[in-house]
Amino acid sequence: MSTLRSAQDALELVSRLRTSFETGFTRSRDWRTTQLRALRRMIIEHEQDIEAALMADLGKPAVEAQITEIGFVLGEIDHTLTHLARWMKPQRVRVPAALVPASARVVSEPLGVALIIAPWNYPFQLAIAPLIGALAAGCAVVVKPSEISGATSNLLARLVAEYLDPRACAVVEGAAAETRWLLEARWDHILYTGNERVARVIAEAAAKHLTPTTLELGGKSPTFVDETTDMRAAATRIVWGKFVNAGQTCVAPDYVLVTPVARPLLERALTDAVEAMFGSDPEVSPSYARIINDTHFDRLTALLGTGRSLLGGKLDKKSRYFPPTILADESAGSPVMRDEIFGPILPMIEVATHVDAIAFINARPKPLALYVFSETARVRRDFTEQTSSGALGFNVPLAHMSVHDLPFGGVGMSGSGAYHGKRSFEIFSHAKAVLSKPLRPETLGVIFPPYSRRKASLVTGALRKLS
Ligand code: NAD
Repeated sequence: MSTLRSAQDALELVSRLRTSFETGFTRSRDWRTTQLRALRRMIIEHEQDIEAALMADLGKPAVEAQITEIGFVLGEIDHTLTHLARWMKPQRVRVPAALVPASARVVSEPLGVALIIAPWNYPFQLAIAPLIGALAAGCAVVVKPSEISGATSNLLARLVAEYLDPRACAVVEGAAAETRWLLEARWDHILYTGNERVARVIAEAAAKHLTPTTLELGGKSPTFVDETTDMRAAATRIVWGKFVNAGQTCVAPDYVLVTPVARPLLERALTDAVEAMFGSDPEVSPSYARIINDTHFDRLTALLGTGRSLLGGKLDKKSRYFPPTILADESAGSPVMRDEIFGPILPMIEVATHVDAIAFINARPKPLALYVFSETARVRRDFTEQTSSGALGFNVPLAHMSVHDLPFGGVGMSGSGAYHGKRSFEIFSHAKAVLSKPLRPETLGVIFPPYSRRKASLVTGALRKLS
């Protein structure tokens, strides 16, 4: 674990890691797989500590911690270990006929020293999943967990120091000040997950050193429901996607756009689904998490307003219990429709048709995820072709992130760059172009001066043909 007291400490830490990186030991496949296996051992040997930290931070039920955090990252580690040798292998590519004889390869090399800045809502998964990519790529790396999820942050700092190679891996605990100190250093890649406001701070700091970034942000992820869907099944999945982690999920359905015929059926099905999952009093349900802190609790309370509440109930600030809440009849201008909700409030807005839903979505920043519940092929096609979002889920929220080979990331205001699976390896690697051509025979004479029209047509023709 590294504790920073000043920007100077941060610069010294990064310089130490860079010196280490430059000796070259992190490049070997052996080092990378040893680290990934150590990470897996760390998780398996401390599963209960991780569950306890997530319970302390978010009241996260153990099963939820297993599915959405621990199990998820173990799956990413195994996927990476299975494919790493292939990902690291130079990829041969074809050369134009004009260059023959020659061979061309793409060689992946580690970018260098990486910084991962994680948020509090899935504090374990969102620190470890990018770390898997950085280790797989052979980078030295610093992880900065969120101070808001303090128990998980402490645990990560302790465990990483114990299990991973301290010459190349460190966890720095702290808040905005520590992050700003870290940002003064030159990094080779920064992966930041969190809100858009801080993303600007990160992007500005990265720009000073021309450091590439991956920005995993949030926003309002819409869900569209029409009358052709199986309403019970759809409502069950929406309720799960919305209320898992008490709504504090970046890809949670933020609001529902529903057609007039579907609306009463959906209202009924949603309330039934909440009861089936969390009982008639979710406060005593062992399957329902809590709000992270008082600031977020107050922010959510202020969103409740005066609209018709289809489902809700009493709040308990002391335990930060915020009930699953469904607001019917919301309008586009209501407070709850302004910013990402990031809590267990689900507003519903009526739209005449899917065409109106698409217009509604396209009038707003591009979302991180968009979910569509409709059995009509034309509706699905229109959403696919006429909207832009980080991900598009038909009939299922959230689950796209468990598919290792699907890119996980946003577009526009919901983020830039994507990771998971091979993409995690790629964002922390540089794809180096390597071309090798023997000096004899000299086939390049035709491009050397003195130029002639005949030479030009020979070369341009040969450049268009692949060998
Ligand atoms: P947060 O407050 O924990 O902040 C994220 C990180 O930024 C923390 O490590 C924090 O210490 C650091 N930070 C905070 N203020 C800073 C400052 N002024 N300068 C430098 N660093 C600072 O988390 P958050 O931003 O509240 O996270 C919630 C947001 O993240 C939501 O918008 C959510 O949608 C988004 N999110 C996105 C994803 C994704 O994968 N795309 C995942 C989870 C959360």
